[in-house]
Amino acid sequence: MEESQKIHILVKELIPVFDELEQETKDVVLSHTQTCSECQHLLNEVTEENYPVVEQSEEVGIKPLKKLVQFNRGLKWLFVSIRALILFYITFSAFQFYDMDLSADAAIEYIGGSTFMFYFPAAIFLLVFTMTFFTKRWMVFSILFDLGIVLFLDTIISIFI
Ligand SMILES: [Zn+2]
Repeated sequence: MEESQKIHILVKELIPVFDELEQETKDVVLSHTQTCSECQHLLNEVTEENYPVVEQSEEVGIKPLKKLVQFNRGLKWLFVSIRALILFYITFSAFQFYDMDLSADAAIEYIGGSTFMFYFPAAIFLLVFTMTFFTKRWMVFSILFDLGIVLFLDTIISIFI
């Protein structure tokens, strides 16, 4: 029997217990699988089926994932709240500073100006985080919403007063 044939037989025996092997033995197995497609295939199957090992750590793995989801959701609420708070402040202060019967135009101008001064930079800041943490859909939605606010908030409010 050829030497490489012997190695092939040994490696085939070892692949099912690949995870329990010493690093040195693993290296031998790996270097053989580089040249032998049959063993390569076997090893792939074994390492893919190796979910029992993953499952053991799954309970530990779930918690960070759950936390990440919660963190994500919390962050979305935070971003929405920051926007709402700024918008509320801008409109609230406009109604406080200006008499709507006498100087509605000035109030609208103030709203447009403050939106650009305060909401716009905050939105850019939030969009950077949105890009990092959230899905593309959420990103597109945020951009459209922010654009709508920056461009049309004063117009929308002028319709109501
Ligand atoms: Zn082989």
